[in-house]
Amino acid sequence: MTLRSIHKIIHPQPRPMGPLTMHQPLPAAGLDQIDPFLLLHHHGPQVFPAHNNGLPFSPHPHRGFETVTFIYEGDVQHRDSSGFASTIKKGGVQWMTTGSGLVHAEESSEEFLESGGPVELIQLWTNLPARYKMVKPNYTGLQEQDIPLASVDKGSVAVISGEWNGIKGPIQPLIDLSLANVSLQTGGSFTRTIPAQQNILFYLLNGSIIVNGREVNNRSLVQFANDGDEITVEATSDSRILIGSAEPLNEPVVAHGPFVMNTYEEIQQAITDYQLGKMGVL
Ligand code: MN
Repeated sequence: MTLRSIHKIIHPQPRPMGPLTMHQPLPAAGLDQIDPFLLLHHHGPQVFPAHNNGLPFSPHPHRGFETVTFIYEGDVQHRDSSGFASTIKKGGVQWMTTGSGLVHAEESSEEFLESGGPVELIQLWTNLPARYKMVKPNYTGLQEQDIPLASVDKGSVAVISGEWNGIKGPIQPLIDLSLANVSLQTGGSFTRTIPAQQNILFYLLNGSIIVNGREVNNRSLVQFANDGDEITVEATSDSRILIGSAEPLNEPVVAHGPFVMNTYEEIQQAITDYQLGKMGVL
């Protein structure tokens, strides 16, 4: 076992996105992606008042990757042009394979619009290899009770995909990709072994931890080098961490707005197909 060294720690600045306060640690200056992890938006935590206008994600298209939405507070009512629809509440996850293309909306439930309340979300984009970019779109909504928990010292791990201490996540991604939400109380700790060739997404939502000997605080993305296979974390206050891991795709990435393909020609095709209604309509 060799501890991985830390390459960089990114502290995103807040920026407004409609009614949301958003932090974007990925991509960041000098960090286009952590292949295959493309983008991470952390919305909130914040409180929406009663009689609010809800989340600002009206119908828009996607092609060529997967989106994973983590609902830490509030709710997200998903519907898309492939006919999938569900409202996922606090503690749940929405996993969407955009594949060949769809149009989706992510809105607040009628109940939330009426009563308001706390909101905290993460939206994560994970890339698909060329061979899967044009697969049929798919969507899975998981409520909190659908996600099994593994236990660590003074903490728990909600396993969404991959495995943690023998607990398997309910999602089987197209590529071998692990995703889990770790909650630690002060003094809690864990060690995770991840093969050196895999890339790691490591985002501390809140709290303070020591990870591989470095102190990291509140809303930090930790970028690891590929020089070891072990991560050790100790919480110095109550902390929550989103952890993912996967082998890099090592393919060209051409991203344009909501489309992520391998070539400019494929982006042009995506725009044309969307305009022709081939991704469906909502
Ligand atoms: Mn979207």
